[in-house]
Amino acid sequence: MADATVKKAGAAYEYVDHAFDVVVVGAGGAGLRATLGMAEQGLKTACITKVFPTRSHTVAAQGGIAASLQNMGPDHWQWHLYDTVKGSDWLGDVDAMEYLAREAPAAVYELEHYGVPFSRTEDGRIYQRPFGGHMQNFGDGPPVQRTCAAADRTGHAILHTLYGQSVKNHAQFFIEYFAIDLIMTDGACTGVVAWNLEDGTIHRFAAKMVVLATGGYGRAYFSCTSAHTCTGDGNGMIARAGLPLQDMEFVQFHPTGIYGAGCLITEGVRGEGGYLVNSEGERFMERYAPSAKDLASRDVVSRCMTVEIREGRGVGKEKDHIYLHLDHLDPAVIHERLPGIAESARIFAGVDVTREPIPVLPTVHYNMGGIPTNYWGEVLNPTRDDPDAVAPGLMAVGEAACASVHGANRLGSNSLIDLVVFGRAAAIRAGKVVDRDAKVPPLNKAACEKIMDRFDRIRHANGSTPTAALREKMQRAMQEDAAVFRTQETLEQGCKRISEVWSGLSDIKVHDRSMIWNSDLMETLELENLMANAITTVYSAEARKESRGAHAREDFTERDDRNWRKHTLAHVDEEGRVRLAYRPVHTEPLLKPEEGGIDPEKIAPKKRVY
Ligand SMILES: Cc1cc2nc3c(=O)[nH]c(=O)nc-3n(C[C@H](O)[C@H](O)[C@H](O)COP(=O)(O)OP(=O)(O)OC[C@H]3O[C@@H](n4cnc5c(N)ncnc54)[C@H](O)[C@@H]3O)c2cc1C
Repeated sequence: MADATVKKAGAAYEYVDHAFDVVVVGAGGAGLRATLGMAEQGLKTACITKVFPTRSHTVAAQGGIAASLQNMGPDHWQWHLYDTVKGSDWLGDVDAMEYLAREAPAAVYELEHYGVPFSRTEDGRIYQRPFGGHMQNFGDGPPVQRTCAAADRTGHAILHTLYGQSVKNHAQFFIEYFAIDLIMTDGACTGVVAWNLEDGTIHRFAAKMVVLATGGYGRAYFSCTSAHTCTGDGNGMIARAGLPLQDMEFVQFHPTGIYGAGCLITEGVRGEGGYLVNSEGERFMERYAPSAKDLASRDVVSRCMTVEIREGRGVGKEKDHIYLHLDHLDPAVIHERLPGIAESARIFAGVDVTREPIPVLPTVHYNMGGIPTNYWGEVLNPTRDDPDAVAPGLMAVGEAACASVHGANRLGSNSLIDLVVFGRAAAIRAGKVVDRDAKVPPLNKAACEKIMDRFDRIRHANGSTPTAALREKMQRAMQEDAAVFRTQETLEQGCKRISEVWSGLSDIKVHDRSMIWNSDLMETLELENLMANAITTVYSAEARKESRGAHAREDFTERDDRNWRKHTLAHVDEEGRVRLAYRPVHTEPLLKPEEGGIDPEKIAPKKRVY
């Protein structure tokens, strides 16, 4: 497996060196779809993952995957595009959103052929359910059934299928390896360094192309629906490579996290007829969103719930949450389409969903921002002259990336489709730009030394603050100051608190110095990554003086297209100084109307009402 083993004289680390055409970091839906596509084309492909592939957070995706298949009634990719543009609050890049909506059906049928066991209609076609913000007729309604589902275990089914297919196509997996940093050579990525958690060896991968598919950074917050592994590691690596992170201020709160536990109750519940009520027993969403009601976009529903609670109409002893009812649904429907939900509600809220409502609260769920890419997954390194310049040798896909198809707010079931459409696009692109006959460029040992110097410094960190204590400080600051509603005051306070946490990194104490299954060291590396995410999130949010999608400011309540219809680019240096720049939104569709494309008038900015 290894091409060379170098035990450096006198050094504390044992190195194992590798050369691959492509190295994918991450084995969630995005990483596996990219890995599979690369391996299918005969590229020598490695996939590195810190957890077993089928334990990646994608496994938790319940509701489903959006594609305009028209199995349940009329639909059109242009309606899907319109909904995505509107959902993004006109911040997404139209070329990427069009690519997503147009390629979605093919990508879903591909999954079906790979073996994903989708739920079926009576006549054997893929079952589709309604989801928030997905409508017929360019937003006029009624809701469309666009979200393809494998009961409420869609992500689970997708992951298992893609992992099996990748193994079948001879991709090499490096499982329970923690990627530390990118090897950068004159602005190009030439590989990655990873730590084998099981035996403590350090693996240096030289590669023609590195693909980051490391997922989101929900764990920067105190309460989130994402797994403990969602620590934005790839974003941290990008920041340390001197590249920018895009639109980090846009953090999605899912309306229905279980009160107290934070785990998710899928929007599919409302898709199947569930609804929210306040302490007066009122279905309040009818008041705020007369047409979409409980199926309005997530940012909208989360804000309405927060307003209800603030105005004293929350439920429970503290009047600090909301009820989600599905006790009126036929138990057979719950059993067939939402079995996992019934189980989660029983375990985490002690509720029998056929008799009682589930207590819920908006909870951090998804990161719209991340590593800027074009719609082929190539990472952008924008310059003043060329806002779309790419960083050679580097791609990013999935929640770590910002293509940007979700803009200021993602629609439910649009992430799973993003993973497979852009995982596939990255593979198609790599098939074109990676020269499989060329030799893999030699390992840049000087760059590796620098990476290991930092690793060594963290491993021997001997200050006075335990990692867990500093992490909680960060999580509380983010939860309180970069929340559903924001003001100049909370955001300035958030910047100050997060900068203090950054300074605190130099006083960390790592107790365990071993190289084998050292969770203390791994969590410290993850904390450094989380901090790159947290600090760019609050500083980008403080700077954006408008409300758009998930970024809701009480002091700037309107969207301001003239000044702010642009992507934020945030750099952070070693000292934790954040520098902000901006790049224009791509507003042009790919296809012209005469080629069957959308009429640009249809997606021109307007007020966003549901
Ligand atoms: C509870 C829940 C339910 C959801 N439901 C839906 C839904 O129904 N529909 C929908 O469209 N979206 C849903 N989403 C969103 C969607 O599931 C995620 O955005 C998506 O799964 C992210 O996939 P990913 O491949 O980018 O990353 P992940 O699945 O998070 O995988 C990240 C991978 O990167 C690896 N990794 C990370 N850091 C390192 C490192 N340093 N070294 C090595 N490996 C590393 C991990 O091991 C893992 O394999 C849901 C999200 C949650 C949290």
